[in-house]
Amino acid sequence: MEDIGSEVRSCTLCTLSDSRTNPVPGEGDPDADIMLIGEGPGKNEDEQGRPFVGRAGELLTELLRNIGLSRERVFITNVVKCRPPNNRDPKKEEIKKCQPYLNRQIEAIQPEVIGTLGNHATETLIGEKGISKIHGKEFDYEGRILIPLYHPAAGLYNPNLKPTMEKDFNKLKDISGK
Ligand code: SF4
Repeated sequence: MEDIGSEVRSCTLCTLSDSRTNPVPGEGDPDADIMLIGEGPGKNEDEQGRPFVGRAGELLTELLRNIGLSRERVFITNVVKCRPPNNRDPKKEEIKKCQPYLNRQIEAIQPEVIGTLGNHATETLIGEKGISKIHGKEFDYEGRILIPLYHPAAGLYNPNLKPTMEKDFNKLKDISGK
């Protein structure tokens, strides 16, 4: 895992390396049973080089705390490791260049369950759209269980979603056996 982090930190495989401040390889337990994957770093993440550290990150930490887990006991990362300018969606070619890092992280961690955070990460990994319909359901991702989850930012925008998000996180916990 450390090797992957070092490679990401010096990566210039796609043009996102031109505009990033810090690459964000991801962080957490390298033996985690739960792996959470977002779309890409935002402004705060780019500044700090850490995933989900803004207000959405605070909600993510709270959702994990509610199921008895700290951030240190899961692994949190993104589909692309460098911030797309102005938070635009990552382009297909950027995802294609970056995805081998994610695949290697999954291979190294061997999580029991993967949670994709939001529509974009979900579509990238399993090609399914419409998070409001598919959140909390089980899908297969290369032989592993994957559960689409609302992006934490959705819970900030619409606090009424929080009970649903908590239910989905409970499912993650049940599947992981934690
Ligand atoms: S987004 Fe991924 S492929 Fe592109 S420069 Fe960053 S680490 Fe490399």
